Amino acid sequence: MADAARLKKRARTKIVATVGPACRTPEKLAELVLAGVDVFRLNMAHASRDEHAESLEMIRAISRQLRQPIAVLADLAGPKIRLGELPDGFLECESNAEFRFIRGETSSDSHDLVTTYEPLVDELAVGDTVMLADGTVGMKVVEKGPDFARCKVTQPGTIRSRQGLNLPGVKLSAPAMDDDDRKNAIWAAENQIDFVSLSFVRQASDVRELKELLRKRGSAARVIAKIEKPEALDHLDEIVAESDAIMVARGDLGVEIDVAQMPVVQKRIVLACTVHQKPSIIATQMLDSMQNSPRPTRAEVTDVANAILDGGDACMLSGETAIGKYPKQAVEMMNRIAQATEELFRDNAPRPTGEFHAEGLHPITAAVVYGAGHMAADLDAKLVAVVTHSGATALALSKQRSYVHTVGISDSPRTLRQMCLFWGVIPLIDVTVDGSGSTIEAVTEWGCANGILVSGDYVVLIGGLGLHVGSHNQVIVHRVE
Ligand code: PEP
Repeated sequence: MADAARLKKRARTKIVATVGPACRTPEKLAELVLAGVDVFRLNMAHASRDEHAESLEMIRAISRQLRQPIAVLADLAGPKIRLGELPDGFLECESNAEFRFIRGETSSDSHDLVTTYEPLVDELAVGDTVMLADGTVGMKVVEKGPDFARCKVTQPGTIRSRQGLNLPGVKLSAPAMDDDDRKNAIWAAENQIDFVSLSFVRQASDVRELKELLRKRGSAARVIAKIEKPEALDHLDEIVAESDAIMVARGDLGVEIDVAQMPVVQKRIVLACTVHQKPSIIATQMLDSMQNSPRPTRAEVTDVANAILDGGDACMLSGETAIGKYPKQAVEMMNRIAQATEELFRDNAPRPTGEFHAEGLHPITAAVVYGAGHMAADLDAKLVAVVTHSGATALALSKQRSYVHTVGISDSPRTLRQMCLFWGVIPLIDVTVDGSGSTIEAVTEWGCANGILVSGDYVVLIGGLGLHVGSHNQVIVHRVE
């Protein structure tokens, strides 16, 4: 497809797609990129590191072939508790039936359940709730012994081997990362992965621990905290401040808190990201029915739109692209919903209050970005270009939710890939940052070739004279001849 046609089709909201058996071939992954995917998620809780390495290689090859930056996110499982093997692989839990959680790795009695979390029996108390099978099966602890916790089924259903287990309201002593998470984080560092997310973050120090591990291994990956525990909500501001981006991980969050609170909590998390100028990703069940149907429900379409109107920077597809029957259609649909919704941002959008600057942003840059956004709006400019080394300036601009087409230019290939998550910013691979004149020339050429610019249009360039290291102190307005 010609670049101009592709650009017209692309939403400003970024699309994160999970890689899985439904899309794990070079052809299918490329098809998803052409449909609108900006970031691929490798879910480290599933598949081996070797398989993820193969996916990574395919994604990098597609990026080179399309001359388009594509970011990769490695999602660490964190302290997720899983059921062990069930004797028959599954178990029907009938109302009021009783089961015991016991110590150990195996059980021969179908009423005794084992888990991957050794201290579970010690940390459960009478009255605690245990949720299984994605929140569809519930049990209450009715008796505690030295080596067991006896539970009664309160919400009947089927459970299967190795399914996740949630303990709403129970404070666990589990570390932020286990051995496998550390190995996966090191793999991510060694393979120049762009984003690493951590599941079940409870406090800001969990994020710091992962950042330190990555930095020690020479990685500048941006760290994403997945908000899916009530404790994380208790420390939301500190976690958002410490993280480079946030994921509203609604799958587990919707089990850990009363699901009726989900919409309000989502708004609270996204607002915190707007205030702190951090990107937010809304995840899970966005177009869930498209795993089996080529069309979404009205409610799902409205959910995607509302996430964007809340101020979400990216929407994520999980099962839809990983194991669904219609991965390409799901991406196309998300892209179409986003485009239709973003129209509203021409006039009004959730914007930062000015209380916090984007992390690493010099006050001069913050003021220049703010001013440039207003200049672009006043002049009805058709393109804004931002030259950025670390990406901080591009992020600040993205958070202003300008509806003007925005391109990000960088001397760093990593920054170009990381800008894939920044709402409204199109990272350009082929533009050099030698000097303002040649950058404007290249950007104008690109804008004209893509049908964004015609003679008489204005282009706004945010750059730096190099007088203040790390600060952008220059805005140039160029009229296309
Ligand atoms: C979630 O819980 O919504 C989520 C994104 O995490 P995972 O897919 O790892 O369960």
